[in-house]
Amino acid sequence: MKPQRVAVAGDDLPVAIAAVKRAGLQLVQRDPQAVLCHGGDGTLLRAEREWPGVPKVPARIASRARLCPDHQLEAVLRRLGDGALSRDELPLLVAQVGAWRLEALNDIVLRNDNAATAVRLVARTAAGESGEITGDGVVCATPFGSTGYFRSVARSIVEDGFGVAFSNSTEPVEPVRLSPGESIEIEIRRGPAELVRDNDPRSVNLRDGSRVRIALGDRTAVVLGLDALGCQRCRKADGSSFNPH
Ligand SMILES: [Zn+2]
Repeated sequence: MKPQRVAVAGDDLPVAIAAVKRAGLQLVQRDPQAVLCHGGDGTLLRAEREWPGVPKVPARIASRARLCPDHQLEAVLRRLGDGALSRDELPLLVAQVGAWRLEALNDIVLRNDNAATAVRLVARTAAGESGEITGDGVVCATPFGSTGYFRSVARSIVEDGFGVAFSNSTEPVEPVRLSPGESIEIEIRRGPAELVRDNDPRSVNLRDGSRVRIALGDRTAVVLGLDALGCQRCRKADGSSFNPH
C-alpha cells in the first residue's frame, strides 16, 4: 500500500504538517491511512490509543536529535508515499479487570497506590499459583516494550510472547515468560493498587480481591519504518544513542 491520506500526532506539529504537505501527501484528521508520529516512543504509544488500527509512522524530531540521512523527516515521508517503509506488526497486551479492558503496546503495570504500603498479590498461570508475593507490584511487557520498565526490573528483555516481572518483592521472584495464547491472573490480596498501561495518565484503581487477567490480544499495532526509533546512527542532541542495547 502507498498511503496518501496522513494524520499527524506528536510534538512540533507545524513542522510535521509542513513536511507532510511538501511530500505531496494529503493531511487529514479523519480516516487516515497512516499516522505520522512526530516524537519518540511516547508519541507512538499515545497515537496507538488515539488511532487504533491505523499504521503508525514514527519520526524523531530533528531539533532534539542529529538524525541520520535515512531518518530525516523528509526521507521517512518519501518512503511512506512510495510504500517503501518496512512493516512490523507489534502484539498488544490486554488487561481485563471486571468491565475494564485495557490495551497496551509497551507494558501494563500493576503497582501499589501508596508508596508507603506494599501490595500483596497472588499470580496464577496454567502452570499453577504463586505463593503470596509482597512488593511494589507487577510489570507485564511485550517484546517491544520490554526494553523499558520491564528491563529495569527483570534485568532482561522479552523475545517472544510477553514477560511478567515482580517489582521490589520482599522475597526474590523470578520473572515469568508466557507464550502467545497463555495468560496470567493477578489477584490483589491487599491493596490499594492501581493498573496503568503505557504512558496513559489514566489508571484503574484495584481493591482487595480484584482480579486482573493479562494476555496478548488478537489485535496488533502496525508500525511502518520502526527502524526510525532504534537506529544506531541517529543520535540524541547530547550525542548518546537512542538505543541502549
Ligand atoms: Zn537513523
